[in-house]
Amino acid sequence: MPKIVIDEARCKGCGLCTIACPRKLVKMSDAPNSLGYNVAIFTEPEKCTGCALCAEMCPDVAITVYKEGEP
Ligand code: SF4
Ligand code: SF4
Repeated sequence: MPKIVIDEARCKGCGLCTIACPRKLVKMSDAPNSLGYNVAIFTEPEKCTGCALCAEMCPDVAITVYKEGEP
């Protein structure tokens, strides 16, 4: 199953990835990271298609997409 991994340390909380995901699987956390940003979180992973639109949108390269069959 495809999935994404969000690197919280890189995330600036801009929210662009939440707009980019056609399935609305990326949401903003209520809890800030160590830099004080409310980071993006991946929800409903079973619905991810691996399209990578979220990762392409992220200006801080905080999202890695794993397609099916990858770790
Ligand atoms: S890879 Fe596609 S479906 Fe999966 S979270 Fe990112 S934008 Fe959404
Ligand atoms: S686009 Fe990148 S920096 Fe912005 S909220 Fe999403 S993961 Fe964080």
